[in-house]
Amino acid sequence: MSCHIETILVLNAGSSSLKFTLYKISGEQRLANGVVERIGYGSANMVYRRGDEPKSETPVIARNHSDAIQLVCKALTDPEKGVIKALREIDAIGHRVLHGAEIFKEATLMTPETLDKVRELIPFGPLHMPPNIGGIEACEKTFPGVPNVGVFDTAFHQTMPDYASHYAIPEEYYHKYGFRKYGFHGTSHHYITVATARYLDKPVDQVNLVTCHLGNGSSLAAIKNGKVLDTTMGLTPLAGVVMGTRSGDIDPAIVLELVRKGMTADEIDNLLNKKSGLLGVGGINSNDMRDIIKNAEAGYHGAQLALDMWAHRIVQYIGAYFTLIGGADAIVFTGGIGENSWQARDRVIPRLSCLGVDYDAEANQTLRGTGLLSKPESRVKVIVMPTDEELMIARETYQVVTKGC
Ligand code: ADP
Repeated sequence: MSCHIETILVLNAGSSSLKFTLYKISGEQRLANGVVERIGYGSANMVYRRGDEPKSETPVIARNHSDAIQLVCKALTDPEKGVIKALREIDAIGHRVLHGAEIFKEATLMTPETLDKVRELIPFGPLHMPPNIGGIEACEKTFPGVPNVGVFDTAFHQTMPDYASHYAIPEEYYHKYGFRKYGFHGTSHHYITVATARYLDKPVDQVNLVTCHLGNGSSLAAIKNGKVLDTTMGLTPLAGVVMGTRSGDIDPAIVLELVRKGMTADEIDNLLNKKSGLLGVGGINSNDMRDIIKNAEAGYHGAQLALDMWAHRIVQYIGAYFTLIGGADAIVFTGGIGENSWQARDRVIPRLSCLGVDYDAEANQTLRGTGLLSKPESRVKVIVMPTDEELMIARETYQVVTKGC
């Protein structure tokens, strides 16, 4: 493998979409990014953006992920809108992979052996893993000889001790089926941990945080000395706080009762993953936090209840994690809601004063990008920070392919 790595392509292949970002890794410059949407449907759509220029949208045909990768290659090398002259300029490719189970504790070079191990993990993510793997296979064909690196959404959480990651059911279910907490959004929690340590001017291995990734899917993590001690998502992303369409934690006996009432596993899956959370409680046919807030402020009971439940569960976990860590340097908000919705944050931060947070309500309303939402003298800091999972994947890819150089 070459030690001269300059240009890294990051791919995130979902069931019907392919997100891409091309980086010049020295200086961490984003050359281009975009997404091919509606892959496998009659008409697909490609969004492309060079650097910070305005994005363009083009109707395209993409029957599968291989087609989508060809479209990405064409856009990146386009004589007018492209950013590289030839595909051989791409030195390495980083792939977001949903699940690494206990096998992949860190980003890993994809070889025939490691890719086979990834294939064995399909039952852990039957919807997401096949497109993730398809993206890697398509790149092996399109970019022969270029290293592919798998960056796993679960990997950063692999430092959880057994007493945090195991469920209190007989251990044979862990051994037989791998039932334990894995956690997700690991790449985002990792990015935020590293960036917050830098922001606080502390070494990463000395930073203690509660990181709150709040988007349509949401999770919190307790970070002790730069490592995950606990996180809210579990065997699957269904557990934890109230999300856009997911219930988060519920009494598992509800599932049993639903089975007894005649619902199938698929129906319950659909109910808890797609019809619950803000969507299910809000009663306004939307899982979008902006709609929930608008309707809650207009006095609509369902939206008010959904918002109150959302905030209650987050405050609950922040308190729990703060205690588990033994006190944190900072509580960090990120993700679509965490970064953008001052109204949603305003339901949470004022309730953290008992932990030593001196809230700056004005900063919470006005601040954009990264900054402090607590007063400068606050014992515990509250920080808002945009996440950047793609950049983290590029960094990890670089580290894997230059190891030993
Ligand atoms: P995903 O989990 O799908 O990646 P995101 O992190 O993109 O989700 O977050 C989506 C959520 O962020 C939606 O609930 C949306 O309402 C919320 N959001 C995005 N922008 C804003 C904004 N400006 N104000 C309030 N909420 C926002």
